[in-house]
Amino acid sequence: MMTIPASKSMTDVDKTDLDAPIFDSEAFRLNDEQAGIIATARELGQRVFAGRAAAYDRDAKFPTENYRDLHRTGLLGIAIPKKQGGLGADYQTYAIAAAEIGRYCGATALTWNMHVCSTLWSGPLADDLEMDAATRAEHERRRAIHYKRIVEDGAIYSQPFSEGGAAAAGGVAFGTEAKPVKGGWLVNGKKIFASLSGHADYYGVLCTETVEGEKASRRNTLYLALPAKSDGVSVVGDWDPLGMRGTVSRTLLFKDVFVAEDAALMPRGVYFQAAMRWPHMFLTLSPTYVGLAQAAYDFTVRYLRGEMPGTPPVRRRMYPTKQIAVAQMQIKLEQVKAIWFQAITEARANPTKEQVLRAYAAQYSAMEGANEIATLAIRTCGGQAMLKSLPLERIYRDSRCGSLMLPWTAELCLDRIGREALYETGETDD
Ligand SMILES: Cc1cc2nc3c(=O)[nH]c(=O)nc-3n(C[C@H](O)[C@H](O)[C@H](O)COP(=O)(O)OP(=O)(O)OC[C@H]3O[C@@H](n4cnc5c(N)ncnc54)[C@H](O)[C@@H]3O)c2cc1C
Repeated sequence: MMTIPASKSMTDVDKTDLDAPIFDSEAFRLNDEQAGIIATARELGQRVFAGRAAAYDRDAKFPTENYRDLHRTGLLGIAIPKKQGGLGADYQTYAIAAAEIGRYCGATALTWNMHVCSTLWSGPLADDLEMDAATRAEHERRRAIHYKRIVEDGAIYSQPFSEGGAAAAGGVAFGTEAKPVKGGWLVNGKKIFASLSGHADYYGVLCTETVEGEKASRRNTLYLALPAKSDGVSVVGDWDPLGMRGTVSRTLLFKDVFVAEDAALMPRGVYFQAAMRWPHMFLTLSPTYVGLAQAAYDFTVRYLRGEMPGTPPVRRRMYPTKQIAVAQMQIKLEQVKAIWFQAITEARANPTKEQVLRAYAAQYSAMEGANEIATLAIRTCGGQAMLKSLPLERIYRDSRCGSLMLPWTAELCLDRIGREALYETGETDD
């Protein structure tokens, strides 16, 4: 991989031959601790994950080796508080670190997001939400169990959410049900596109707690860390998709799976509260695609300069049409980075309407922008650049998948921005 000189503002780990960061710490006012965590992610991505990405993609194989490295470097516990052995990163730091991982291996970054959400949602996000003192104390006791497994044993958590219907879009209650029984719940249901299937140690299942005599309600959503080896769990179907092939997002079936009370990653009612009051929780799928946008741009600059390893040193940069394409890509990339950085920086409880609309716009921009930049990269680099021996065609395929991610698909973002910009809460045309 070509060496880009490190900027002066970077920490020690960056001083060798790393790519420049996507977000320079001085320009984007990141502190030394943030820059250090992000640099660790970038170094691991560039030095280790980039070289493995093609094989995971070709074989649609889960990046198990990368997860061992994420554990070894502490990144598996990036959002776990320091006093519990984690790196104590906040939302913004995690998001930028995830973009750096996505730059080198999209499937690792996307699955790492599912894992990190189990700690981010139960951690800094839950700390912002309302709970009485006893509930909070119990929540803190329970989450410590999960955090210890991750920090000490390298346990991997996933986040099966989608069911194929309107639940993952936020429209109705999850069809996967948790029936209260002595000491826990019995879980029954089906999750589609469950990334890390067969590879996670715990499936962080979103499901609806059944209440005798009541209709299923989104208010009764539970977030349970179901042990993957439990009786009644099966992984079915094959996995041979267009892109993000290393995510191994197969179908999970739950048949009378007993889940103990301590498996709750959030207390009763808190997931619903989070979905209402902390909407940026759903923006965490976007960092991967910011990284892919940067990767497509980096590839193009190297390729047109004749500096891409594995290709003849032929320069193509002197053609005005190629220069214009690079300019268009750079403008798009800076637009994506600017709105996305602002949105991840203002993630918090009870955001203003303007901040929520900006978060949808940031998600849309990252997901669609990554693919637009990758499309331009293919067109302008030319035929030899899209061979499977080079990373660009994988970046292109991976980048196409971002807009499909519920609950904030590109279509649903457009839908919400349009409606919420034109109507205040409760307003109608009647
Ligand atoms: C690579 C990859 C990895 C994934 N990993 C995970 C994972 O780990 N966990 C997980 O839970 N999911 C995951 N997903 C699933 C993803 O989040 C979506 O749920 C999935 O792509 C939706 O597929 P679908 O065909 O059901 O979509 P759609 O049919 O588009 O959507 C499903 C339903 O959502 C509603 N809906 C969709 N669009 C609209 C609209 N415009 N207006 C109103 N309602 C709408 C409808 O009810 C629709 O039937 C992954 C997807 C991919 C591609």
